[in-house]
Amino acid sequence: MLSDSFSRQFSYLRLSLTEVCNFKCNYCLPDGYHCDTPKSELKLSEIALLARCFADLGTNKIRLTGGEPSLRKDLVEVIEICSQTEGIEHLAMTTNGFKLAKHAKQWKQAGLNHINISVDSLDPRQFAAITGTNSFVKVMAGVDEALNQGFRSIKLNAVLIKQLAKHGFEQYLNWIKHRPVEVRFIEVMEIGANPEYFEQHHIAGTGFKQQLLSRGWQAQIRAHNAGPAEVFYHPDYAGKVGLIMPYAKDFCSTCNRLRVSSQGRLHLCLFGEEGIELRDLLYSPLQQAALTQRIEQALLSKKGTHFLHDGNTGATPHLASIGG
Ligand code: SAM
Ligand code: SF4
Repeated sequence: MLSDSFSRQFSYLRLSLTEVCNFKCNYCLPDGYHCDTPKSELKLSEIALLARCFADLGTNKIRLTGGEPSLRKDLVEVIEICSQTEGIEHLAMTTNGFKLAKHAKQWKQAGLNHINISVDSLDPRQFAAITGTNSFVKVMAGVDEALNQGFRSIKLNAVLIKQLAKHGFEQYLNWIKHRPVEVRFIEVMEIGANPEYFEQHHIAGTGFKQQLLSRGWQAQIRAHNAGPAEVFYHPDYAGKVGLIMPYAKDFCSTCNRLRVSSQGRLHLCLFGEEGIELRDLLYSPLQQAALTQRIEQALLSKKGTHFLHDGNTGATPHLASIGG
C-alpha cells in the first residue's frame, strides 16, 4: 500500500479527465472555461496504465472528475477501462449532472457504481445564479434517473456558502427525508484565481454540525477508504448528510487521496505544487516499475497539511484544473 512519511495510506485516486467545463460556477470558473491552446488530455492507453499501476499499489477506489468529466467523448471507454482493472472495487464520478439523464444507464452498464452530482441549490433561481446555467430541471432529471438505475451510492455535492447556510439547509433535509441520497456540504475553499469570493462567502461547517447533533443526527464511523466527509445519519431520514470541512483541525490527518490531472501530473494535495510529471512513463506497460518508483518517491515529499489557513492556495488556480 502506498504510504507517506506521516504513515498515511493512499487507497483512493482522483483522476481528472479534462479541464474543460460547460458551467460557470461562481466559486470555480466564474467566467467559464477558456484556453487558447488546447491541452492534450490523457489518452485511453495512458489511463489504462495509470489505473493498473495504482491498483497494483493498493488503490481500490478511483473517482473520475474534472473539469466536467462527462464532456469527454470517450467517457464510456474510460469507465470500462477503470472498472475492469483488477483491484478497483469502487469506481465513482463527480459530475455537474448536465448529461446524466441521458447517459446514467450507459455509465452504470459500463461499470460506474458511485456518482456524486453537484447541486448547489434546490432553488432553481439560486442554482442558476451560482452555476451560470439554467440547467436545474435537467440536472434534477439526471438525479432521478441515477436513482432509477440503482447506483451503489448517489451523493449530492453542495458548496457551503453563507447564502446556502441561511436559506437552503432545510430544503436539503426535506429532500433527503425519503431519498437514499447523501447530501455533502463542502466548505468553499479559497482558490488562487478568486480570493475575494472566499472572503465574502466562506462559512464554517461546524455550525451545521451542531445543528445536526442537536436535532438527533448521529455521526457515522468512518470507513478506511471513505472520502473526506464527516457523515451523519438520522433514523427518520432515508438520506444522510456529509460535511467536508477542509479548514477544520486535523482534516489532513485522514487524507487517503492522491490526484492525477488530465495532463498526467501527480498532485499530492489539492492545494500544492505544480504536480509531478508521470506522462513520460505512460507509453508502455514495460515502464510500470519506473512509474511505481516515481510515485512512491514523490509521496515521501507529501506535506502533513495544506496551508489554506495561511491563505496559501498553492499552484491551483481553481479546482477545475486538477479535479475537486
Ligand atoms: N464538474 C464536476 C462537478 O462540478 O461536479 C466535477 C469537478 S468539480 C471541480 C468537483 C467538486 O469540486 C464539485 O462538487 C464542486 O462543487 C467542488 N468545488 C469546486 N470549486 C470549489 C471550491 N472553491 N470550494 C469548494 N468546492 C469546490
Ligand atoms: Fe464546472 Fe464543476 Fe467547476 Fe462548476 S464546479 S465550473 S461544474 S468544474
